[in-house]
Amino acid sequence: MRTILTELDEIGTEDDGIDLVAVCSGYTFCPECGHVDDGHENRRNFPCQTCGKKCDTRQHLFAGDERAILEMIFECYRSKKSQAVCVLLFCSLMELHLRMLLIGRCRRLKMEWPFIDSTLKQMRGFDQRLNLFESLTEAKWNQSAAPKEIARVFSSYKSLAEKRHKLAHGLIGVAFAVTTQEIRLAVESAADSFSMFAYLHHKYCAVDSPPPPKDFPRPNSTGANRARTPKRRHRHAN
Ligand SMILES: [Zn+2]
Repeated sequence: MRTILTELDEIGTEDDGIDLVAVCSGYTFCPECGHVDDGHENRRNFPCQTCGKKCDTRQHLFAGDERAILEMIFECYRSKKSQAVCVLLFCSLMELHLRMLLIGRCRRLKMEWPFIDSTLKQMRGFDQRLNLFESLTEAKWNQSAAPKEIARVFSSYKSLAEKRHKLAHGLIGVAFAVTTQEIRLAVESAADSFSMFAYLHHKYCAVDSPPPPKDFPRPNSTGANRARTPKRRHRHAN
């Protein structure tokens, strides 16, 4: 079976690998309903599968930093002398993915930006943010509808985060901290992370996503940092 590593090994350093980045990250979503397209192309005049809106207004789900980081990961992998940086970049990518997923979920629940921003600043750790997402969805990572892919990529993050810590903070042994196997795991997991987070955006950030749990975060103070209870439920909410 061909994998992203097979592809990268074959193209060597001659190709810039941009096509592979596009293949991994080319998901689009409908700005009206948040539905993510399974296809990788932004096809024109293709109706959204949820709300029927024409596809030429769809937006790229991973148009910004995520895509740029994946490009860096592929480039470092093919550079041979900078491969260990793939581990650092993969962890950064996962943290960015999770941040964007949380923002998408909070917006779908009609939370206002000051509350979202202050909440994310208070909960900077990856596990803290995973717990926050679970509290906003009642989802359990190991019980979701796509358990294998999700569990595998999160497991990769957990196993590589310690190595990232060494690299990022210059701990003793940093130059030899990362093995070839870990580098390959980071690259493969980085590529896989896009389909996984596209799935999570589709499931938890679209108009027909599950409603918030009963213990949906409520305002605990006065002032700007308040969560607002949604004024109305979505017509298509479960
Ligand atoms: Zn739509």
